[in-house]
Amino acid sequence: MTTTLISNIGEFFTGDLKSPEADVSSLLIENDQIKSLNPPTDIECDKAIDAERCAVLPGLVDGHIHPVFGEWTPAQDSIGWITNYMHGGSTTMISAGELHTPGLDYENLTADLVTSLAEVARATTGRVRWGGVKVHAGTCLLVPGMDESHFNRLADAGSILVKFIFFPLEDNKEEAIRYTAMARERGIRTKVHTGGVSRSGSSRVCGFDTLSWLQPDIAAHVSGGPIPMSDEDLDLLVDNTEFALEVCSSNNYRSTYLVANRLMEMGRLDRLTMGTDTPGGTGVIPRGMLRNILFLSSICEMSPGEAIAVATGNTAKAHGLDVGILKEGAPADLVIAGPVKGSAGTTLGDAIAHGDLPGISFVIIDGEVIVETRSQQTPPPMQIAHFMDSPGCPYC
Ligand SMILES: [Zn+2]
Repeated sequence: MTTTLISNIGEFFTGDLKSPEADVSSLLIENDQIKSLNPPTDIECDKAIDAERCAVLPGLVDGHIHPVFGEWTPAQDSIGWITNYMHGGSTTMISAGELHTPGLDYENLTADLVTSLAEVARATTGRVRWGGVKVHAGTCLLVPGMDESHFNRLADAGSILVKFIFFPLEDNKEEAIRYTAMARERGIRTKVHTGGVSRSGSSRVCGFDTLSWLQPDIAAHVSGGPIPMSDEDLDLLVDNTEFALEVCSSNNYRSTYLVANRLMEMGRLDRLTMGTDTPGGTGVIPRGMLRNILFLSSICEMSPGEAIAVATGNTAKAHGLDVGILKEGAPADLVIAGPVKGSAGTTLGDAIAHGDLPGISFVIIDGEVIVETRSQQTPPPMQIAHFMDSPGCPYC
């Protein structure tokens, strides 16, 4: 058994939209779980971290990534992207389909091919913790002609999600509805590409009409990925459906502003989820999730705690994952961060509300310290968390 105590916490963001901030100044991790909040700070432990009044928040949950093979992405010819994103605070990522696989012919996808592709992704990229990150790969790119046997294979492989993007929805309504039922019977969620055509060139245009009969679990990048549906469709979607609505870094910012405000007005922020929709044409963005949080808070005027909850608890819940909320018994996936020198904010919350990029000091996944003292992808925070017994923190 290994125990880690984090003390001297300045702010605590729960990731739970119902109560996004809490009065927590110390936290005890036992093995891979949060054992207790506000334990006595003289409790015996194997390792002790002084948070130096920095904030603790859940590890970010990127609900929309496009992995291919491990940490290599052909979309931008780069390697090491997952570890770099982890340094931007992401500890869980969910594939929206391995569609950048080189040579894949989108016009000639077969049921067996897309199922096999998901199985391979699950058994390779999804099998290993790249940079410590929990990567849920193996999201099948649904095509006509699939049956129970294909969904059985996906369930056996451990897929958590399937995706409508190349599927001609309006020509195959009954089949699509049958797919969502077959997926749900196996505990697999459904996501659908919305808006205009994607970088691949062959995705289908999808707006309110299609979504209203399809009823997926998550409507992907409703504010654009890259091209959003019309403003009218976006309003109809918010007003007349109940499923999760995702916004991504590949967005049209104006559309994100519209959908976020309408959900806030209706008291339905619980429906909002977040991802980067990268790597892709938008790029490789290690700080993408942080930037999305800053936009939601500084421009859309969500509280910092609400914006963090969208990027953590909300997104995890929509995908059926147990991460994203910091409470006793939850996986110990968390980030220690604070405002950077020169920021308008004196706390992480102030900095986020002002739209200033925070600095990350620690990233912990399943109780294991992956980033210690400071991130390679953000500036250092003004106050730097450190192990108590470290012989003098080099940054303090
Ligand atoms: Zn995508």
